[in-house]
Amino acid sequence: MTEIKAQTITDWFQEPTTSPLLIAGPCSVESPEQVMETAQQLKAHSPISLLRGGVWKPRTKPGSFEGVGAEAMQWLIEAGKAIDTPVTVEVANSEHVEVALKAGADVLWIGARTTVNPFYVQEIAEALRGVDVPVFVKNPIHAEIGLWAGAIERFQKVGVSRVAAVHRGFFSTAKSVYRNAPGWQHSFDLRALMPEVKIVCDPSHIAGDRRLVEEISQVAMDLGMDGLMIESHRNPDGALSDAAQQITPERLGNIIRQLKIHVERPTATHTDLAELREALDVLDQEMVGVLKKRFEKVKDIAAIKEREGLSIFQMDRWMKLVQEQTALAESKGLSPEFIHELFALVHKYSVDFQTSLIKKE
Ligand code: PEP
Ligand code: MN
Repeated sequence: MTEIKAQTITDWFQEPTTSPLLIAGPCSVESPEQVMETAQQLKAHSPISLLRGGVWKPRTKPGSFEGVGAEAMQWLIEAGKAIDTPVTVEVANSEHVEVALKAGADVLWIGARTTVNPFYVQEIAEALRGVDVPVFVKNPIHAEIGLWAGAIERFQKVGVSRVAAVHRGFFSTAKSVYRNAPGWQHSFDLRALMPEVKIVCDPSHIAGDRRLVEEISQVAMDLGMDGLMIESHRNPDGALSDAAQQITPERLGNIIRQLKIHVERPTATHTDLAELREALDVLDQEMVGVLKKRFEKVKDIAAIKEREGLSIFQMDRWMKLVQEQTALAESKGLSPEFIHELFALVHKYSVDFQTSLIKKE
């Protein structure tokens, strides 16, 4: 178990993460007083390593507060100096880069609406050729991991040696308590593609609601994320952007103190863990064996359906299967939702498999 400690960006970028990085600050820089007071409160309550603040705000709806612009960049720099903490700002084009670097921004971040567009990402990367400023790349709005990895690579290719990722959740049309679906598996996919790239979680934009920030932060730590970027404002309800998800610096301090952080990776000394994992491996092999047997039967069923002219998908059969298996799961204390989802996947592949067999014939 460890804790979040204030640290230099340079130290954090050097492997491995022994203490997660905390980035905090308002969604938008609104006035010199707002950012200064927020920064001072943050410093008093939390081990903050980087002060964030949006100066140019990419808004979904025109007419929303679009940021103060270049002038606010100066206010952010001054607030950072006052609390002796480096600052980070979102840049969305080469002009933003120029203004931010000239003002003295220490770190830049790329917003979700920019990562989706390789033209913009490349333009920003070109503006950074020969400038070794750290860059944090938020995931694109939709879950296309290639686009996220591609944006990171564009910065690496122009010589930016310190590039990290920010997981801020994904747009989804499904009804949910989250503003953006967490889609944790996508950050694992990015890790698999780019194991050397650190990933910070942004619980604020996943949540969209300040009541969920703590819980999401804990999940991020449980999953071994390398840090947190959290929106915090001296007066969240009065914020000009993302009011519902911002928290006070005091609340942030409480959240950070409550977090359970397990940075240590399991080692060979955890023999009980190793034994349990071996047992899991055996069970998983059995599961794959059972699925193989199931697909053999599916093959025979496909042949009969073909011969008798029956449709591959039969609604009543599917409904019965789900009902029986979820009831069985429940009686054994397993989550019926989990079993429903699992069988939906098994059934989907079964239908696809039968379709491919029949097509062949
Ligand atoms: C932000 O950090 O304020 C922001 C606009 O985030 P995102 O790009 O993740 O929507
Ligand atoms: Mn925001």
